[in-house]
Amino acid sequence: MARDRVNGAMTKATESAPLVFPFSAPPERSEAFEVAPGILWARIPLPFRLDHVNVYFIDDGDGWAVVDTGIDNEKARLAWDALLAGPLAGRRLTRVIVTHMHPDHIGLAGWLTEQFDIPLLTSQTAYIECLNLSLAPGKLQAPVYRDFYLRNGLDEAATALIATMGHDYLGMVAPLPPTFERLVAGDRLTIGKRNFDVLAGDRHAPEQLMLFNGEERLFLAADQALAKISPNVSVSAMSPRDDPLGLYLRSLGALKAGLPADSLVLPGHQLPFYGLHERVDELAAHHEARCEALLQACREKPHRPAELLTVLFTRKLDPHQMGFAFSELFAHVNYLLNRGVLKWIERDGRRARLAAAD
Ligand SMILES: [Zn+2]
Ligand SMILES: [Zn+2]
Repeated sequence: MARDRVNGAMTKATESAPLVFPFSAPPERSEAFEVAPGILWARIPLPFRLDHVNVYFIDDGDGWAVVDTGIDNEKARLAWDALLAGPLAGRRLTRVIVTHMHPDHIGLAGWLTEQFDIPLLTSQTAYIECLNLSLAPGKLQAPVYRDFYLRNGLDEAATALIATMGHDYLGMVAPLPPTFERLVAGDRLTIGKRNFDVLAGDRHAPEQLMLFNGEERLFLAADQALAKISPNVSVSAMSPRDDPLGLYLRSLGALKAGLPADSLVLPGHQLPFYGLHERVDELAAHHEARCEALLQACREKPHRPAELLTVLFTRKLDPHQMGFAFSELFAHVNYLLNRGVLKWIERDGRRARLAAAD
């Protein structure tokens, strides 16, 4: 059954029309492009291979409502200063809307809200997860979490890096304001003269918020649907039997069923695009193909989870990338386990190797 679904999705993706990009290049530093009347798009630099995050400014009457912020570092703060002195000059910021708890989106929310004495609007999950990490960043080093990685075949170096991720995270995130305004899926958020439906999607990030304006078919998609990157979908050691890939695919399905095909997608990274339905199909097919490759490897012989990394990642991974890759691999493993097509082979009473169930 799973295989039928895999083949169906792949066929559809190869037949799909290409995406259309209304802007051929992104704004330069301190520039902002108008992507719709009264909605500006700018970029804040990131010190990663993915070198930027998109931020949006929505006309909010006497000022701009901000969507997402960048991580907290010197370069990002300077980029904000340049935007505030340039394309945003003369109008105040009214509020900061954060789509999800990843540091490239929530990082400077505390800095902006404090500096301008404006509210933070986000999901309860984003706020509490960020707060939770700041209260106990070392908690991820607990033996029970380290054991999850080691037991499944990840090496010591990569495990040590994952275990200190709480500290890394806080290094990129300014302290949150003590209060926030909660946004919930199904809410209607008025920004200036526009109304936006608040949508939530798992599990690129838990309860990631997205905004949709039906009149102009504008979709602020955060990281859920990016034009060229498949957003990271990961299992964490805190919830090792979680099925984030199942949740992500479910969310993609809901976006395709609920939003018009001709929506302008304003994503968290890379270029705005048209072709939401095609991109949803491509992303789903990408994951189904990866699942099929894992299943095939496990049909040939049982594997420890970490041994399957080379099935999904052909380039050489450093320990840092290895941690992310492993968490992403496990999302596919749990998806297949939950659907009964993969099973554990136990050894001495412990889950040791993965084998195909068919
Ligand atoms: Zn993200
Ligand atoms: Zn992001």
